Amino acid sequence: MGVLLPDLDAEFGGGGGTYAHQAVVLEELTRAGVHFGCVAHGIVGHYIYAYGSEAQKRRWLPCMARGELVAAIAMTEPGAGSDLQAIRTAARRDGDHYVISGSKTFITNARNAGLVCLAARTNPNALGVRGISMIMVETAGLSGYRVGTPLEKVGMHGQDTCEIFFDDARVATSNLLGAVEDKGFSQMMGQLPYERLSIAIMAVASAERAVELTVRHVKERSALGKTLFDLQNTRFKLAECRTRAHIGRVFLDSCVERYIAGRLDEASAAMAKYWLTDTQCRVIDECVQLHGGYGYMLEYPIAQMWSDSRVQRIYGGANELMKELIAWTL
Ligand SMILES: Cc1cc2nc3c(=O)[nH]c(=O)nc-3n(C[C@H](O)[C@H](O)[C@H](O)COP(=O)(O)OP(=O)(O)OC[C@H]3O[C@@H](n4cnc5c(N)ncnc54)[C@H](O)[C@@H]3O)c2cc1C
Repeated sequence: MGVLLPDLDAEFGGGGGTYAHQAVVLEELTRAGVHFGCVAHGIVGHYIYAYGSEAQKRRWLPCMARGELVAAIAMTEPGAGSDLQAIRTAARRDGDHYVISGSKTFITNARNAGLVCLAARTNPNALGVRGISMIMVETAGLSGYRVGTPLEKVGMHGQDTCEIFFDDARVATSNLLGAVEDKGFSQMMGQLPYERLSIAIMAVASAERAVELTVRHVKERSALGKTLFDLQNTRFKLAECRTRAHIGRVFLDSCVERYIAGRLDEASAAMAKYWLTDTQCRVIDECVQLHGGYGYMLEYPIAQMWSDSRVQRIYGGANELMKELIAWTL
């Protein structure tokens, strides 16, 4: 359908478009309330495209674009979430293989993933940001690899989130992403703006949709012989929400333009992620309030949007972390 990897080269099976095409896909899926893990899938596509060898790109990208190979990105561990320097999953070299042991948690798409882009420590003696590498794990028939049962989430039920476990799983050293080891941390930092901008796109599309749905609801629902829309508080709240969504849209479009031009700096990506997801949650919460009890019923799309939106402030780097990133540039 062209929904997967629309912004990667056609030579590798992608849609041959730019990030603007990816933005449209994400907006439309968000407006439809569909979250099926294509962001995580796309993130992995971008890691391979940016750092992979020609052979790696040809091996994985076309199957990923066709949806035959589902991908997951595995950074987070029980003891390393916001602080990725604390990653402990180890990849010990043994001839032409890595022997991987450790576990990851909160991994989107893990249930169906045939390819896991794994952040692991290839140099056990290096501390902090050093010694981490990205290894592409092909999971089919891989002994020592196990996926836990999907975790029960508050929202985002269209995509699974699982723990994954490595117990001396052997992966060929040719599956290292990039020519040399120890580049994992800088590779992750290089790709995080893409992830953060994608989250920001979903945030704005969702805030805009929430306002639309709520305007429709309050104009139909009667109260005190009028409609809810006739109450000044309702109109003022919706005016505020529409304003926030519109400011968000203008800022987002500027970030998307800069990203396409290769000029989006890390701080702006962090601003987009933090401010737009905060705005999304604030707008949707107001919209739930204006729906009254119906806003708490999953039968109404606004309720689903409320439960889907909360995680946006947490994953992709918690919003507090975004503020640290912005503050470092002051
Ligand atoms: C639904 C879902 C899907 C996910 N998908 C993936 C995935 O596909 N791949 C993957 O690798 N990970 C994934 N994650 C993990 C996600 O990225 C982490 O949950 C997130 O980075 C936060 O890490 P943590 O949960 O360990 O929280 P912690 O690191 O324990 O942080 C908890 C809270 O402490 C505060 N905090 C932390 N650090 C700072 C700081 N420096 N300054 C100020 N406050 C701070 C923040 O409020 C933060 O929310 C997913 C998570 C969820 C919930």
